[in-house]
Amino acid sequence: MKKLIIEVRMNEASRKQANPNVPYTPDEIVADALACAEGGATIVHFHARNADGSESNAVDDYRRIVSGIRAKSDVLIHPTLGQFFGDAGPDQRMAHIEALAAEGLAPDMAPLDTGSNNIDMFDWQAGEFLGDGGVYANSGANLRYMAGRLREWGVRPQLCSWSIPNLRLAGAFLAAGLVPAPAFVTLVLSGGQGIMGHPATEAGLRAYLDNMPGEEMEWSVLCGGQEIFSLLPMILREGGHVSAGLGDTSYASLGQPSNADIVRAIAAMARDAGREIATPEEARAMLGKQLQPA
Ligand code: ZN
Repeated sequence: MKKLIIEVRMNEASRKQANPNVPYTPDEIVADALACAEGGATIVHFHARNADGSESNAVDDYRRIVSGIRAKSDVLIHPTLGQFFGDAGPDQRMAHIEALAAEGLAPDMAPLDTGSNNIDMFDWQAGEFLGDGGVYANSGANLRYMAGRLREWGVRPQLCSWSIPNLRLAGAFLAAGLVPAPAFVTLVLSGGQGIMGHPATEAGLRAYLDNMPGEEMEWSVLCGGQEIFSLLPMILREGGHVSAGLGDTSYASLGQPSNADIVRAIAAMARDAGREIATPEEARAMLGKQLQPA
């Protein structure tokens, strides 16, 4: 059976109040990434944060994180682009990737969310929206431009689909040769208070799988706001990969776990189901060669 790629979603916008093991500072992120790699993670995904937990877009923070991980591990490195909201254009959103590439520190992957989406949270028990939400804007023109820049830098895009239309755009990018084959696509499911992706159910995942545009896609499942465990049997059976961690929810069923604890729990369930875990080297081979720089 195909080996399983485990990506750990280390922090996103999660807070230490929910689980004190959520890493914030570059030092915390590096230590956590190395522990996750030791526990079986193939890819580490993170957002640079300040010591108070707020978002950081500082190139120096990303430099410290990427160089700190690279010094000790060959795990695939996947920083966010950040700056979801506001007026940041594509060059600003990729400024840290461009700077790192110029220094020979290009990360392995960067996310391209293939579509614009409302980000709203809803408290189903109270029947109330939580905050004003926001619009995460990703125009087709900006995405094509960003795909081109990533190609120049030798950085593989991870295409995040929040819905079937997003997945169709990812398929068009593959058909147009804008991203390397096989494309690596993350299918977003939203549980808990999140209502922006497909429901975090087997039916929500099935809808994506019934609409996969072509064969040349390796797909991974992300489950925001809810633990991924109930969906693991289907993901493993269908040949998918997993993207999970404290960035999604506090994983209270494991007590107060670290990200490495979550990775180990997923790896154990995968092995029980007959899926061995891909090493970073095996994942690089599975995902194929990069497109040559344009
Ligand atoms: Zn992220």
